[in-house]
Amino acid sequence: MNIMKTPFHLMLVPTLGCPARCSYCWSSEEGSPIMSIETVKAVVRWMRDFQDNPVTITFHGGEPLLAGAEFYREALPLLSEGLSSLTPSFAIQTNLWRMTPEIAEILAEYSVPVGSSIDGPEQINDRQRGTGYFKKTMRGYEIARAHGLDVRFICTFTSQSVEAKEEIFNFFLKNNLTLKLHPALPSLRNDKPEEWALSPEKYGELLLYLLDKSLEHIHEIEVMNINDLCRCVFTRHGNVCTFADCMGYTFAVGPDGDIYPCYRFIGMPEYAMGNVSDNPGREELAESPAWKLMHRFRDFVDEECKECPHIRYCRGGCPYNAITPAKGEISGVDPHCPAYKMIFDEISDRLNTEMFESPMMEMGGFGAKRERMKPGIMSLVHKMVSR
Ligand code: SF4
Ligand code: SF4
Repeated sequence: MNIMKTPFHLMLVPTLGCPARCSYCWSSEEGSPIMSIETVKAVVRWMRDFQDNPVTITFHGGEPLLAGAEFYREALPLLSEGLSSLTPSFAIQTNLWRMTPEIAEILAEYSVPVGSSIDGPEQINDRQRGTGYFKKTMRGYEIARAHGLDVRFICTFTSQSVEAKEEIFNFFLKNNLTLKLHPALPSLRNDKPEEWALSPEKYGELLLYLLDKSLEHIHEIEVMNINDLCRCVFTRHGNVCTFADCMGYTFAVGPDGDIYPCYRFIGMPEYAMGNVSDNPGREELAESPAWKLMHRFRDFVDEECKECPHIRYCRGGCPYNAITPAKGEISGVDPHCPAYKMIFDEISDRLNTEMFESPMMEMGGFGAKRERMKPGIMSLVHKMVSR
């Protein structure tokens, strides 16, 4: 019998350092050390003993390319061969400033897809990410593309840039770029943490706007969040970490080998659960305060969201968003809850209308005629499953 195993996600953070200075950043640290190859070997040993599900390994930061070509030349074969029984796949999240033909070649050899960050046209991007950011990222993008790497961009919407959402959307559309949006969070390392943060209401409005836009341009652009949200509602199952119980299937390892529940907690020692050099099993990690806290969050969601029609595929949102602003207390779900409700309500309503009230009106839906009317949620679902 073929039993599907839950995919395991391991985030490796080779350094917390970053050469950029984005206004809303919450994670980069100056002078952060680089992960040693000994630590990578310890990761391989730990992962092999720890679990046997298929694993995706994402290099994250800080800025992971600061680790340099030599690091990836050694680390990728170690991970790929050492974890071959877990059929590892790789990804990297980088601002691309330090991309070189040498690094691009190594990443291409292991088919590593690249996630990068651009917040829209140069002027809007550089206003919030710093002068010169756009050009440096685009330079790296050209090198990556020249080596056949698949590059997608995350666009962070802030309280300021959201006012230019149309211009930003058109930038992604015209340049033929896949769009993945990220709402700016209150920076935990800033005197004015809320200055750039996108409010839940504005975030909800933005998601509704992008839903309409991605349906209007269904054959021209992919808005990944909208695809994910529609898939969640259609399958009634969370399929991205924000909308699933990430605890136990997602871990991150920092430059010194410390193990955290997610890359977002790295650099906050109170969330370290153990170290790969000690080769800890689940039982040992489960003794740590961070593990217990994350699992208490899951129980809290079961109670707090029990009346919500979206609980099955929302699961209270991201525990990091919920826990860290409250200084490690569990006092609520993800503060983006109003945004999630707005978009999940809208998708559910439209889906119900399309499926039960006018099944023949949907263009390209299952069994429906390929004609008339504007594309709807079923068109997006159809597009996703037929890829
Ligand atoms: S803490 Fe948040 S960002 Fe991290 S894996 Fe969980 S849901 Fe995703
Ligand atoms: S939408 Fe809000 S209330 Fe509903 S499950 Fe998500 S976090 Fe909980």
